[in-house]
Amino acid sequence: MGTTREKALEYLKDNRDELIDKLGEFIRIPSISTEAAHVGDVQRAAEWLAGHLQSLGMEEVKIFPTSGAPVVYGASRVGNPGIPTLLIYGHYDVQPTDPLGEWQSDPFDPEIRGENLFARGASDMKGQIMAALNTLEAIGAGGDLPVRFKFLFEGEEEVGSPNLYRFIKNHRDILACDLCLNPDTGMLGPELPTITYALRGLAYFELRVYGPSQDLHSGTFGGVVHNPAQVLCELLAELHDGKGRVTLPGFYDRVRDLDPAEREDLARLPVNEAFYLKNAGVRKLWGEEGYTPAERTGARPTLEVNGLLSGFTGEGSKTVLPARAMAKISSRLVSDQRVEDVKKQLEKFLCDRLPDTVRWELDQLAGAPPVLSPRDSRGIAALTSAYETVWGKRPLFRREGGTVPVGAYLQELLGVDSVQTGFSLPDDNAHSPNEKLHLPTWQRGSEALLHFFFNLAGNGAGSTAEEA
Ligand SMILES: [Zn+2]
Repeated sequence: MGTTREKALEYLKDNRDELIDKLGEFIRIPSISTEAAHVGDVQRAAEWLAGHLQSLGMEEVKIFPTSGAPVVYGASRVGNPGIPTLLIYGHYDVQPTDPLGEWQSDPFDPEIRGENLFARGASDMKGQIMAALNTLEAIGAGGDLPVRFKFLFEGEEEVGSPNLYRFIKNHRDILACDLCLNPDTGMLGPELPTITYALRGLAYFELRVYGPSQDLHSGTFGGVVHNPAQVLCELLAELHDGKGRVTLPGFYDRVRDLDPAEREDLARLPVNEAFYLKNAGVRKLWGEEGYTPAERTGARPTLEVNGLLSGFTGEGSKTVLPARAMAKISSRLVSDQRVEDVKKQLEKFLCDRLPDTVRWELDQLAGAPPVLSPRDSRGIAALTSAYETVWGKRPLFRREGGTVPVGAYLQELLGVDSVQTGFSLPDDNAHSPNEKLHLPTWQRGSEALLHFFFNLAGNGAGSTAEEA
């Protein structure tokens, strides 16, 4: 007679094929959120997921409609007082499949080739959701779960989660928890379990500079009218100094410094200068002086020109003095920067520098705060130890350069930190043809999550579950 944990680990091994079949059922529903033709499939995937939660013995299972795709919610029954409540976040929608001709097999008819299961959503992220749910099946609906689980599954992640903030805000009572697990960030290699403890935020703007009331003849007016394209370019050229630092006033005021221990962990990441040179296809890297590439992309903020438009850009020549110039500008933020501050800093910069020969307008197009979970938190400690058990090594600790707003929403609205991880691999072709899931890693991932849940409960509160 083993403990609950050991029996559950055995269950995961013994039922590997059945668990893969179950994942296949989920994958066969083409829940593409970006295409109107699949609205019914998105709904069907929500219903499948709700049904699966019910079959696992979850209570309060509910499909909440939103103005877009529904949110699936569920919770395990209230267990022993004192056990932590863990909210598991996931998204059941998937990316479109085009170009369809490049797939080696039907994207919605999962096919195993070698160690991989090929299908849309296998890695991003139906496989990740099932890696977590399989552990509940393994523990057994009747068994004592080591923590109280709650589930928040949305169907709009691939279209920017337009309804998620409001949903969380309006359902703070049922979502209340101690910690969130988001298994949507993946690992850096099959032997490199990875914990992502920070994500950058985003502040996105469109700047329009207006000169004359219409495009002018550059021979007649050139020399007396200030060219808005020139004005805009001179302004953009001043956004960084010679050391690669952003020059907006106060831009770095709230940026947290890296301590030596954190820098040491970031130095272990396999994303060095050679990695970026190879993947970017550039002659030489650029960036803020005094920081490594991993620090620059994860722990330091940026300001980028994403697009420029002005004047005549067609074939041949046209001697025009353009009426307007436009730039798309965005900033990746790090903790504790705030979107609204960056907007004010940019406005101040524009007010101070733009000449009175032109008129300008600035619009904010998107905004999402950065997120940072303390590396010494209870959740990260529990997951670190789970990875050490399954992989036999300390995981990598990564700061991700991209933006996933859910972690920031949960921090703001529920006051909880998120543990971001997952078992997708860099070569899984997420969002591309031939998306795949590496099955041995998926299996180890489930085992690790199982250990994580028991570790979270600790020896005190979790002991009854252990002895069951
Ligand atoms: Zn995803």
